[in-house]
Amino acid sequence: MDISNKSLIKDKCYINGEWINSYNKDIIEVNNPSTLKIIGKVPKCGKEETKFAISKANEAWSGWKGKTALERSVLLKKWFYLIEKNKEDLAKIMTFEQGKPIAESRAEISYGASFVEWFAEEAKRIYGDTIPDRFSDRRIIVLKQPIGIVAAITPWNFPSSMITRKCAPALAVGCPVVIKPASQTPFSALALGVLAEEAGFPKGVINIITGDAKEIGSEMSYNPIVRKLSFTGSTEVGKVLLSQCSSTVKKVSMELGGHAPFIVFDDANIDEAVTGAIQSKFRNTGQTCVCANRLFVHEKVYDEFLKKFVKAVSEMEVGDGFTEGIVSGPLIDEYSLEKVKEHVQDAVNKGAKIAIGGEIHKLGGNFYLPTILSDVSIKSKITNEETFGPVAPVYKFSKDEEVIKMANDTPYGLASYFYSRDIGRIWKVAEELEYGIVSVNTGLPSKAEIPFGGVKESGLGREGSKYGIDDFLEIKYIQMAGI
Ligand code: NAP
Repeated sequence: MDISNKSLIKDKCYINGEWINSYNKDIIEVNNPSTLKIIGKVPKCGKEETKFAISKANEAWSGWKGKTALERSVLLKKWFYLIEKNKEDLAKIMTFEQGKPIAESRAEISYGASFVEWFAEEAKRIYGDTIPDRFSDRRIIVLKQPIGIVAAITPWNFPSSMITRKCAPALAVGCPVVIKPASQTPFSALALGVLAEEAGFPKGVINIITGDAKEIGSEMSYNPIVRKLSFTGSTEVGKVLLSQCSSTVKKVSMELGGHAPFIVFDDANIDEAVTGAIQSKFRNTGQTCVCANRLFVHEKVYDEFLKKFVKAVSEMEVGDGFTEGIVSGPLIDEYSLEKVKEHVQDAVNKGAKIAIGGEIHKLGGNFYLPTILSDVSIKSKITNEETFGPVAPVYKFSKDEEVIKMANDTPYGLASYFYSRDIGRIWKVAEELEYGIVSVNTGLPSKAEIPFGGVKESGLGREGSKYGIDDFLEIKYIQMAGI
């Protein structure tokens, strides 16, 4: 990986302030999803290393929670400035291992850093309460205290920001963290570890362990020292972790899959809706949990929207993330490519028409053409499952009630989008969509100051905003009598 600050590239885990190998020296190879070449290796750790990391985090706990909020805030701010200072190199590492266009990687580094900066401020605002008692000689005080050791498991699609979105609030309130990044994108995580070390976090407060997902995840779930598990990834794995965590009654946050509806009403600004659809559907090659997965367009504006949407997609350049002008990179791996192919084929078999794309890109490998499908049957797999790829199925509707029903007809409930200029309709539809995020007239809802998260099988808890810190706090009530 050709970057300026070579010290950011680490092929070891970061535990208790040391860079270590796996005990049995096993490794995981990491490839570049664009070139399919191996770019490095990281340790394949398991149960024992995870247990060790958790015990070291536990040793660091009393010192870390004993610091003042201001001291923790200062360290988080140092980390934030170092991330921003090394933004270009961090973005390059991300494009090397994840494949996203370099402009998107830069945006993600800044997005990820914004959580560190946000929670550096929030660290100072953990307010409790006093409650008037029903007896005159008593007083009630409510304290908020750090929950304890936090374990975090993160996915490959946002290799940097999913880590900061979890760790920054945990660290801000006084919880040490043990992080397990996705095996396909560990270098972005380890680079954050290098900068955390440089910022001066005490040893054991931030630990990063790469390796066997099942072994690490199971130790994190069953180990009673861990009091909170925060997971971002698929609903399938989320359910496994939820069940494992029940054994020690841990607090959990689950940021899981999505199946976002994107609705264009007949009073929408069509050009803006097309821009939003491109942003929401095709960012990160369709591999975001908030990607539009089902586009419902009112029959009166269907033809106009489809024509403009197809034109916009025809102008998208696909290729290696480092190539000038590229807006769409490769899919992460062959498995993802196969799923995309399967969803398109199934939709076509059930009557869908390919408006554009619908096949592998001429570059081969993991590259697939940005695709639009029209006349899609609601019985298709793509209507009912998260595709996680650059395919936009478009459906026609005529009535508001009909489209709200279709939009809600899924076990998922993360992000939803709609375009309308009618204030009455905006309120009504926003209230009726069963989603944690409703984005009106924009395709980009994510930022540090909003409570990000889903309902139904899209998850539990919220990340970002003032609400994101609550997930790492316990409430303690103190009763004082005899006053
Ligand atoms: P995934 O397979 O669930 O993997 C996510 C993380 O879990 C990785 O670190 C993975 O490790 C680990 N993992 C896999 N199996 C595990 C197990 N049995 N126990 C413990 N950990 C395990 O998901 P993905 O394919 O990487 O990510 C895509 C999914 O994430 C999509 O469904 C997407 O919607 C969702 N997502 C949700 C949000 C949100 O905020 N709601 C944000 C981004 C992505 P290995 O890499 O080592 O296998």
